[in-house]
Amino acid sequence: MEKVIILGTGVAGCTAAIYTARANLSPLLISGPEDGGQLTLTTEVENFPGFPEGVEGTELVNRCKKQAERFGAKFKTDIVTKFQEIDDGFELTLVSGEKLQCHSLIVATGASARWLGLESEEKYKGRGVSTCATCDGAFYKNKEVVVIGGGDSAMEEALFLTKFATKVTVVHRRDTLRASKIMQERATNHEKISFIWDSEISEVVGDKFVTGVKLKNLKTNEITDFKCDGVFLAIGHIPNTKPFIGKLELDEQGYLKADRFMHTNIPGVFAAGDVHDTKYRQAITAAGMGCQAAIEVERYLTHKGIE
Ligand code: NAP
Repeated sequence: MEKVIILGTGVAGCTAAIYTARANLSPLLISGPEDGGQLTLTTEVENFPGFPEGVEGTELVNRCKKQAERFGAKFKTDIVTKFQEIDDGFELTLVSGEKLQCHSLIVATGASARWLGLESEEKYKGRGVSTCATCDGAFYKNKEVVVIGGGDSAMEEALFLTKFATKVTVVHRRDTLRASKIMQERATNHEKISFIWDSEISEVVGDKFVTGVKLKNLKTNEITDFKCDGVFLAIGHIPNTKPFIGKLELDEQGYLKADRFMHTNIPGVFAAGDVHDTKYRQAITAAGMGCQAAIEVERYLTHKGIE
């Protein structure tokens, strides 16, 4: 039986791994479907302390992994489908069929991109509809794209896409942005970026690939056709808590509930990062929670006499 298993290899999971590994607990990390977490889907991270020139998201998370490995953390590529309590710990069933047991668990499974839920969006997934400009932006060289959303992610995606696209149009459902001031300024001042306010996409249209969208003005209900070659969604994230439904306490949006010491409702199970964070969702707060959860695991295991 493992002393501690950490679910997720994003910055929360990796920080928890650094701390638990340094405490000689030989943590085992399970990657989940998005190895490295959301940082691998972002461009430059400018606000992580210690990197005055900024750092690429993927590089930051790879450095965290290496740091954890240096102290003995083990990594496994697989996905947890089932969680259950057993005598003296927990059992996890993986997609591969393997079952793993552990005395303590840190859930740092993060959150994944939210989709609009349109049938036409589903049809054009990977054929013009994307949730990741970093991954797919280069396909839109000299093309025109729309970005949906008004938060920091939408501004970041829009700015990144200006490297390739000739025109980037941000479609937002309100007339004020949610994004931080600095990101708003960068986007609104960019000559390739324009905004369509109070509007949502009612349909993605195309033939083999996307050729446009139908936009609905939410104030007038008027529907207009808008030509574009790509649609990038940046409308927030959904916490990855599916295997824990009915087992661990979740809030009404599906986020894993935990107290301020990262304890969930089941002793021995701890939360860290975006799977729990409904408010800040920053790389640095995820790292902080990973650290907290790891220290709490150490105390929990010591208390149980597991060294
Ligand atoms: P977010 O802040 O929750 O913003 C989501 C945006 O999508 C909002 O503008 C929201 O509109 C819109 N939206 C949500 N559901 C929608 C729907 N069904 N249809 C149309 N629009 C919809 O999410 P985020 O931008 O991913 O950011 C998450 C967190 O990460 C934030 O704390 C952010 O600060 C942080 N972040 C920081 C950076 C950075 O510092 N550079 C970069 C990326 C993310 P409303 O505004 O009307 O609700």
